[in-house]
Amino acid sequence: MSRFWSPVVQTLTPYVPGEQPQMQRLVKLNTNESPYGPSSKALAAIEAQNTEDLRLYPDPEGTALKQAIAKLHGLDPKQVFLGNGSDEVLAHVFAGLLKQSEPVHFPDITYSFYPVYCKLFGIDYKTIPLGEKFEINTADYKVPNGGIIFPNPNAPTGRSIPRSDIEALLLRNKDSVVVIDEAYVDYGTQSCIPLLCGDDCPENLLVVHTLSKSRALAGLRVGFAVGHPDLIEGLERVKNSFNSYPLGRLAQAGAIAAIEDQAHLEETSAKVMQTRTKMVEQLGALGFETLPSTANFIFTRHPKHAGAKLYQALRDRGIIVRHFKSARIEEFLRITIGTDEQSNELITALREILN
Ligand SMILES: *Cc1c(COP(=O)(O)O)cnc(C)c1O
Repeated sequence: MSRFWSPVVQTLTPYVPGEQPQMQRLVKLNTNESPYGPSSKALAAIEAQNTEDLRLYPDPEGTALKQAIAKLHGLDPKQVFLGNGSDEVLAHVFAGLLKQSEPVHFPDITYSFYPVYCKLFGIDYKTIPLGEKFEINTADYKVPNGGIIFPNPNAPTGRSIPRSDIEALLLRNKDSVVVIDEAYVDYGTQSCIPLLCGDDCPENLLVVHTLSKSRALAGLRVGFAVGHPDLIEGLERVKNSFNSYPLGRLAQAGAIAAIEDQAHLEETSAKVMQTRTKMVEQLGALGFETLPSTANFIFTRHPKHAGAKLYQALRDRGIIVRHFKSARIEEFLRITIGTDEQSNELITALREILN
């Protein structure tokens, strides 16, 4: 604490990311990174940019990357916004689109960064409880609101809802922005991006993606949002009032190659989904109850063993998972889907702990 902190800084409770321990030989299943490397084409493209040209500023608009994203998804480049990780994109979304006279609505159990942005930007928010089975019911989101945001699949539950639920929500909610955070969409969830293609693109739908999870580039820091060109223009106004160059030359080059390598994404996502199915089965045999997941992580609890104890016992064995000390989810562990080998180590450790 310093007396020079501004009043808002004194009130902040910053987001705490999952730890990045420096210990060797850890089974790291706590921050939903990909266990497989990024596309080798992305690594080669970054290498090729590693030249004297780094003395020059990058393209502030990220034109070539916007074109690559637009091409992949059948959109116009004017529908694409880029940021330094989707966390930065989300920050601009809160500041530029969700700060309204009515409170923004999001689930009570969701990505814990959302309330942090609200505090930083002085945005009023209202949390909407998930259903009994930790599902999002879009009918619970009533007007008026200053905007709606949730991940699909939701984090940390891993549960998703079909695109048709979100289409219905858009029909009921025409006077504020609906933001779908699709960080984990590539592991079996229907994306809402197809709703944005063509002439009847809704004015108020924004879909946020990251290259940190399924494209295995968390270390490069690239995220994007897609939506109506007028929404994107609003975000550009915020970005250009904050940092004109959020993505460096290496990040732009690597991201373009990664976006163009859809085969790598499909191959690695399929492996993750196979491991997920097997892991859920094995956990079930040990008595764990796991929420249905379409993400690269699962949310699971054991009826006879406390979440905090299991977390610590795994940690003692060099296996790091995520545990949240929040109401309703204290008994759960969020476990990233790693390789088959990591998954086997986890199951072996849990078997030992439960005995
Ligand atoms: C991981 C994650 C993000 C942020 O990803 P970046 O690394 O900042 O691109 C955003 N939303 C959710 C729900 C996430 O889990």
